[in-house]
Amino acid sequence: MNYNIEKINQISQLFAEVVEEALQAEGKAEVLIGDVEMSMREGLRVIGQQALQGLLEVADGKVEAEIKCDCGGRLKYQRRRETTIWSVFGKVKYERAYYAGCACGKGCAPVDRRYGIEPGKVTAGLAHLVALSGINKAFEDGRKWLKEYLLFDISENTVRAETQNMGDLQRQADDKLIQNMHNEASLQKREHNPAPAPDILYGSLDAAKVRIEPRDPQEKAAESREAWRDLKAGCWYEGEIVPPRQRSTRQEAKAEREGTVLRARNKKYFCDINKAEQFGKLLWASACAVGADRARLVVFICDGAVWIWNLIAHYFPNAIQIVDWYHAVDRLERIAQEAFSDVAERQAWLESVTEDLWQGRVELVIEALQTLAKKSNLAKQSLGYYSDNLERMRYAQFRAAGYLIGSGVIESGCKQSSPNVSNSQALNGVWTAPS
Ligand SMILES: [Zn+2]
Repeated sequence: MNYNIEKINQISQLFAEVVEEALQAEGKAEVLIGDVEMSMREGLRVIGQQALQGLLEVADGKVEAEIKCDCGGRLKYQRRRETTIWSVFGKVKYERAYYAGCACGKGCAPVDRRYGIEPGKVTAGLAHLVALSGINKAFEDGRKWLKEYLLFDISENTVRAETQNMGDLQRQADDKLIQNMHNEASLQKREHNPAPAPDILYGSLDAAKVRIEPRDPQEKAAESREAWRDLKAGCWYEGEIVPPRQRSTRQEAKAEREGTVLRARNKKYFCDINKAEQFGKLLWASACAVGADRARLVVFICDGAVWIWNLIAHYFPNAIQIVDWYHAVDRLERIAQEAFSDVAERQAWLESVTEDLWQGRVELVIEALQTLAKKSNLAKQSLGYYSDNLERMRYAQFRAAGYLIGSGVIESGCKQSSPNVSNSQALNGVWTAPS
């Protein structure tokens, strides 16, 4: 933003004096930088609050005797009327011209309309911050967090309402996306202006249990009545080689073994609390939005749930299907834990089966599990997992083709409980991470 430097300099000087005076008046023996910062933040907030009030109060300009109503009728000037909004600087009261007297019964304040203000409500800027905190934290925690950042108090109910509002908006956006994929006109428009498509596009899907915060205070008081629901989440992304200089220690070790290290980029999340069939529609619509239908190849990296592979086979019959490497290995580790009490024995078994899996020799992994099945329940239970997913675990082939074989994208998405504000949100209800 281009400010008038001269005026900013004057304000800054004056503001420094005001802060200095306020700190002296407090009479603390020792003033540290934190005290100075806090005093400045509080001062800036008050300045913002007053400046916003001032700006809105002079925004009317020349007042007309009559203006046009939305209904086509006429509205007459009444008087300057006061209203309140909640802004990022806190509560702001201001007076502006108010018109009424149309046959339709509606009134109007042109200033509110011009700035997109809803009298008595939270501004768009504050709503965004409030919803962010409500998505990432339980409402009560969100409120405390906001107070630290914004230096004023917002009620838990406001956090709840704004978060739900944001979820509703995301839901509308998702519905629109789905509708557009069935709408001839928007499909044609898309056909004429194709967005650049990635060469290989990756997709990951997963489900997580999420705890819905009860909306009703009574329900909230009854601790036992926690509402857990199934969240289905997905992520679209591309793969890129991690440049040597950006590698972490773990990636460095990986690079030594495998030559290159890939990572996910351009991640786009989507999620819903809904049945698999409905989630499939969102999967397809979001796929089209990222150009999946024009990518040379679509590769899915998922954990084994059957409904996931069914959806993928339905919408993307030509896609490559890979069981997430980390899930496949993690299961072997858990089996080893259960089956061997002797550390050396356990280590030896695990190294051998991990190597087999790494080389895509899934048949040998299954044989090893069959041998263990008598003494390990988990080994027995896992036979189906490895045999059903045999072709999805040909890791040597996948690596040779240059594909990513594992990605934390969807795990981290579900664990954070808020994949990404611009691409998915709490939707029907507002949810928090299981603790
Ligand atoms: Zn009217």
